[in-house]
Formats: sequence, C-alpha cells, structure tokens
Amino acid sequence: MKVDSHTHSKFSADGREEIDLMVENAKAEGAEYIAITDHCDMDTLQEGNVVPVPWSQLDLDAYFADFNRVKAKTEGIYLAFGIEAGFDKRANKLYEELIAKWPFDVVINSVHFVDGYDAYFPYYFENKTKETTYTRYLETVYDSLFATYQFDIVGHIGYCVRNAPYKDNVIHYADNSELIDRIFKKIIELDKALEVNLHNGMVPNIELLRRYFELGGRKISFGSDAHRGDVLKDYDETSKVLKLIGFTHFSIFKKRIEERVEI
Ligand SMILES: [Zn+2]
Ligand SMILES: [Zn+2]
Repeated sequence: MKVDSHTHSKFSADGREEIDLMVENAKAEGAEYIAITDHCDMDTLQEGNVVPVPWSQLDLDAYFADFNRVKAKTEGIYLAFGIEAGFDKRANKLYEELIAKWPFDVVINSVHFVDGYDAYFPYYFENKTKETTYTRYLETVYDSLFATYQFDIVGHIGYCVRNAPYKDNVIHYADNSELIDRIFKKIIELDKALEVNLHNGMVPNIELLRRYFELGGRKISFGSDAHRGDVLKDYDETSKVLKLIGFTHFSIFKKRIEERVEI
C-alpha cells in the first residue's frame, strides 16, 4: 500500500498545485493515502526571525473549504487534512490554539528556523562553520520534540543540508553522535513517527536511519514533500532502501489516530 504523508498544495506560500490534481497524481501512482500538509508558519511571525523571501501565512479557511470540496468527490484513496507546523518554541501557544480548533488528520512538526535564520537558505551559513550550523540545527530539532502542541510526525531531520555550501554536506553520525542519539531516543520515547523526506535526496540519510533502527526506532512516515504535484516521488527506491535497513511499515494518521501499513 503506497502512502504519502507530506505534500503541499497551492495554499502553501511556496506551493503551486491544485489539491484535485495532487489526488489524481497520487491515484495514478497507486497510492491509497495522501495527506495535504500545507505550511503553517507561526515561526516566521516571531521577533528576530529573518524571513528571507516574501512569505504569506496559510489561509486555513480557504484551504479547509477547498480540501472539503475535493474530499467530497474523492473515492478510492484517503485524503488527509494536515499541516506542517514550523517550530519555534515561542509559538507553542499559537499552535496549541490552532491545532485544537481544526479537525486535522495529521500534524508534522518541522524545524525551519534556527537562531533567527531559515536553515534552507544560504544566509544561514554565512560566517559559520559546518560544526556550528549543523549542531545548532540538531539542537533545535531536539528542542522541537518538546513542543507543547500535539504533533504526529517529526519532519525532515536533515533539512539544513539542502543548500549547505560545504564540499561534504552530509550529516555524519560520528560528528554529533550524542545529540543524534538523544533526538532518536526522545522520538522513540514520545512514540512519534520519524519522517523519511524525499524533497531533495533522502533525509534523514541512510546512516542516521540505520542508527534510529538500531536504537529501536520502528515508526517512520513517508513524505515526498512535493510542492509541484510530484507526490509519491522516489517511493519505490526509498521503500527498497528502508526494507534493507529492516523497516517494515509506514505510519499514517487519520483523525490523529495512527495506522501502520506495510511498506
Ligand atoms: Zn519543511
Ligand atoms: Zn514541507
């Protein structure tokens, strides 16, 4: 059973695609579950966070109305209503209120901002060493696990590598083993799903996924992080890699209840 738990529609500031078409594409790929998880970025509203590109906030009323329009006519696939929450501990209260108010199927908690900068963009790396940028990113991921709002999935650990200017931009386990273990142990203790994200290569990388498995981590979710309708991207290759590590199931969420489907 193919599933995709992380996708963006035109309601995300950086998304383009109609929900209708995303659902069609997912069905054409043979998927039985697709979650729309548009960006909800209370992090960008926090003082001192430097937003690098023009950014609009998610219009949840418009998003929910359009989601329901598509949901009503959709058959043969479960269409899930979700958000990707951009973590900033100062936004805890805002997310608590918002998540209580809307009937989400799934909430992904993702770190984008680290020390005032979005770790996707080159300005985050200016005048800092790889050791500093990656360690601070991972420390912020650890902090995000203590978010006071309900979330189901820990989003894209490794986000900072996407545009990192280093010859060797890999997050090596050996460089931050204590911190990485602390993150994975906490995810396991909290019983959250660790996302395998395919936006630009696989994150977490295979070395980190192996370590998560070694520590007892079994809950993972698949996320194409598609912004252009390319849902289920790299699904078959990724599934093979995950099975070789030992993973057998993906977690999906319906009305915040977890189900596990065979990879
Ligand atoms: Zn993200
Ligand atoms: Zn995303």
